[in-house]
Amino acid sequence: MVRLNRENRSRFYRVKCPDCENEQIIFEKSSTVVDCVICGHVLSEPTGGKSRIKSEILATLE
Ligand SMILES: [Zn+2]
Repeated sequence: MVRLNRENRSRFYRVKCPDCENEQIIFEKSSTVVDCVICGHVLSEPTGGKSRIKSEILATLE
């Protein structure tokens, strides 16, 4: 039973860390804090629904 629901499809963002300029892919609806893998800067915080992105979004990946 596969249900396609395009409108609710989650996205990924390609973001750039403001501290070290590392580029990283993060999930739109991550339920945990996402840290930069290089320097540990918080890139995204969970808000219950969509994550609050705290870094520069370079691209949206669907
Ligand atoms: Zn960083």
